[in-house]
Amino acid sequence: MSKVTIIGSASGMPVANRAHASFLLEMKEGSYLFDVGEGCASSLVRCGVDQNKIFVAFITHMHPDHCVGLPMMLQMMHLSGRELPFTVYLPAEAVSATRDYLSTLYVFPEKLPFELRLEPIRPNPIYRDPELTVSAFQNRHLTGYQQLTAERHPQSHLECYSFVILVNGKKLVYSGDVGGIEDLRDLLAQTDLLITECMHMNPEDLLAVLAEHQVPRTVLTHLPMELEGKEPYLLQLAQKHGVEDTLVACDGLSFHL
Ligand SMILES: [Zn+2]
Ligand SMILES: [Zn+2]
Repeated sequence: MSKVTIIGSASGMPVANRAHASFLLEMKEGSYLFDVGEGCASSLVRCGVDQNKIFVAFITHMHPDHCVGLPMMLQMMHLSGRELPFTVYLPAEAVSATRDYLSTLYVFPEKLPFELRLEPIRPNPIYRDPELTVSAFQNRHLTGYQQLTAERHPQSHLECYSFVILVNGKKLVYSGDVGGIEDLRDLLAQTDLLITECMHMNPEDLLAVLAEHQVPRTVLTHLPMELEGKEPYLLQLAQKHGVEDTLVACDGLSFHL
């Protein structure tokens, strides 16, 4: 069994009916969460997901729409009486600051009734178990901050990753946020499922690249405000490019791999 559920489908701008970036991959032995955007915990509850089944989370980068759901997630786990360990893979630049931030929120990692492991994203594969393998590929999403970080925040290394997940002989690509279409193009060979943001690429360019790589199924998420509510337009565009199996994400959208 492997099932994908979109937990949050908003981009950086809050909208009424969406939590921010997150999706869940449910497997026989447990579930994996990719990104933990704002509103993730309450959306998991709305989607009927048992937090006890989630044992690993992977965070693409530290923009709030991809990671600030983590403290609430941990609080939910705490209040639910969780005892099972929970591991979060996140950019190495953020591990120590995240630990401090959690303590500032009185979510002291060492006081939780379960073991919390904050692990830096390291050379590939960053994670492997009998059910799946996850690799991370740094992209150019944060390069615009180069000057600012060099001057004021030298501990930042512009870490933003796309993930390639190998599961049941299938290849799933997840782009949290990218710098542009080239970041995605490099990863698409023999992809079975792509879950991609639509904010930092022109949808026409994206669909042309999907057609070129014959990606069998794509989920479009993290839509810019100008595409919000324009699902029929996006689906029409996908049809025009011959990218047949295209889904526009909403929270709770779910399908088997
Ligand atoms: Zn984003
Ligand atoms: Zn971002």
